[in-house]
Amino acid sequence: MTTTDSDPKARMDWLVKEINRHDRLYYVEARPVIGDRDYDLLYEELLRLEREHPEFLDPDSPTQRVSGAPIDGFEQVRHEPPMQSLDKTHSKGELTDFDAMVRKEVEGFTYLVEPKVDGVSISLRYEGRRLVRAATRGNGTVGDDVTRNVRTIRAVPLVLAADAPDPLEVRGEVYMTRDGFAKLNAREEEAGREPFANPRNACAGSLKQLDAKVAAERPLDLVVYNAGGIGCDGFATHSEMIAAFRRWGFPVSPWSRSCRTMDEVFAAIDELEGLRHTFRFEIDGAVVKIDERRFYDILGATAHGPRWARAYKYAPERAETVVESITVQVGRTGILTPVAELRPTELAGSVIARATLHNADQVARQDIRVGDHVWLVKAGDVIPAIESSIPEKRTGAERVFEMPRACPVCGGETARTEGEVAIRCVNPACPAQLARRIEHFASRNALDIRALGETVIDALVEKGMVGDPLDLFTLDADALAALEVSGHRFGKNATTVTGALTAARSLPLHRWLFAIGIPNVGVTVAKDIAAEHAHLSDLEDSAVLRNVIANDALKGKERKILEIKVEAARAVLAFFASDYGRRFLARMAELGIDPEAERQEAVATSGPLVGLGCVLTGTLSRPRGEYAKLIEAAGGIVQGAVTSKTRYLIAGANVGATKTEKARKLGTEVIDEARLLELLNPPAIEP
Ligand code: AMP
Ligand code: ZN
Repeated sequence: MTTTDSDPKARMDWLVKEINRHDRLYYVEARPVIGDRDYDLLYEELLRLEREHPEFLDPDSPTQRVSGAPIDGFEQVRHEPPMQSLDKTHSKGELTDFDAMVRKEVEGFTYLVEPKVDGVSISLRYEGRRLVRAATRGNGTVGDDVTRNVRTIRAVPLVLAADAPDPLEVRGEVYMTRDGFAKLNAREEEAGREPFANPRNACAGSLKQLDAKVAAERPLDLVVYNAGGIGCDGFATHSEMIAAFRRWGFPVSPWSRSCRTMDEVFAAIDELEGLRHTFRFEIDGAVVKIDERRFYDILGATAHGPRWARAYKYAPERAETVVESITVQVGRTGILTPVAELRPTELAGSVIARATLHNADQVARQDIRVGDHVWLVKAGDVIPAIESSIPEKRTGAERVFEMPRACPVCGGETARTEGEVAIRCVNPACPAQLARRIEHFASRNALDIRALGETVIDALVEKGMVGDPLDLFTLDADALAALEVSGHRFGKNATTVTGALTAARSLPLHRWLFAIGIPNVGVTVAKDIAAEHAHLSDLEDSAVLRNVIANDALKGKERKILEIKVEAARAVLAFFASDYGRRFLARMAELGIDPEAERQEAVATSGPLVGLGCVLTGTLSRPRGEYAKLIEAAGGIVQGAVTSKTRYLIAGANVGATKTEKARKLGTEVIDEARLLELLNPPAIEP
């Protein structure tokens, strides 16, 4: 392969293919071969080339998953044939009846047992092997066209393998990943909104977003398990069809069992139940299908679902326990969250001692009292939640919970903002809020000061060493080293913190904007806003933000996303207009920190590596990201792969021969880490 920067079109084609290949390895084959950082480098290189050469932009490039402005509503799509549901069984006896019914009509078949994925069903249509339409089930006959949102799901192939039939329609399930759901709900609560009850609701809500950018932020994934109306004929069995789906580029269930007898079916169902928490998706049961497709027409369908398949629902997993007390936690934005402290109990593989009750309304609605026996479940298989109390078990000694009037940490006043379910501590100096704010400030997507963990921050706040996140920048290194954290001197870790703080000074604007922790300003919104502004101080009186708000007044309320953006624009303006916001800016100026909008390219104009392309490969003694930062700071350009413009290939241990071979051919110098460090820190010239 000799694709180089001198032939940008070829390089772009290669990058599109390469990124698609890695998506496929990750989502379809579940065996990624590169890490996130390397993936990002490829992606960033493609973005850069597409910016420089828009004429070569491929509409199906992985960068084009999100496109266009928010829409007003969804078009309707007719399903041919209708997207059916499944008849359900809840016991093995009912399955035996199903088997007897089938055997009366056909013989010589096998069953296939598959997981019943608990998500939102979707129909995907490809023409010219490109995704042209995605639709929800709706009422089965007519659904919503959610193509724009579905395109943002990285697991959904935009382009299929060359041997896929054309046109093609397949059906499957879109779902939200477990940890993605946990994070989304945390964000919702931080913003004072009601959290989603479970991943399925969160997933359905995401697909119905009118702005694809919002949908793109949601961690959605896909499993394909059924034929659509077109292009799926010609397979003798369902399992052969699924194998073909996988070859064509669709993620399919990693687990299924072929069974000859009902005993085997029951064994498979039990096996699957034992595995239910190990999948990327949540399952609420098993689906038993006849594998041989020639029987489908004979068996036909009822109004509800095909007669050749049955769902078997598992009983939801729950455990009984006792609410020993209800405590109240104070979050970063001052939100007071009631938390049930439980008698520790085992549920779905872990011991659970506490569960969030979200907000006071929820406690009242569920009538959960201190001392109550309750049913505990796991929402989305991850977040412990109280399903209900068990009133029959009350003795009369239970106490109704009352939200404290004052903040449980600082004793300050609390208030409820209109339109929000949350009650907040309104004291800006509240130590609990401060500690959580600093934690956010130091988090990975913000200023990335990793050595500052929760306990360190709590200690800093408690000792009065920081009264504001920006105080971190004037912390005395010796005092920090002397700090006692859970019985140990912080010691050498202090240097790591000060080093990270120095690096944080030159992080781009969007990272700082996110770090401040303004309500409704998440990572993506921060990037969008930063792209329109050169400096942090430009946000103070931003015409762009005022325009966003003014435009919304013209467009009306039905555009949910505009509402969100307007909320963010309002919040940013309000922040910089507030006393604290003004002081923050003044303090930044004093500290000499002036975060700028990210340069289009990493071009430090001075430094020992100015303009030189560098590729990192092999096992290095420090994280690659760290070296990448050093190289960029020295003016170098970090590349994802060796090209004719690569000056140095920095090779760690275990480097593949192809890489060094290619470097040699292109005249790239292959160096080791020690040499790189020398290049980064050239010896001072003696006068
Ligand atoms: P329900 O939504 O509870 O009525 O269950 C029926 C739905 O289960 C179907 O319409 C599909 O969307 C979904 N489903 C999940 N996994 C499978 C699977 N492996 N095979 C068929 N349908 C499935
Ligand atoms: Zn407080």
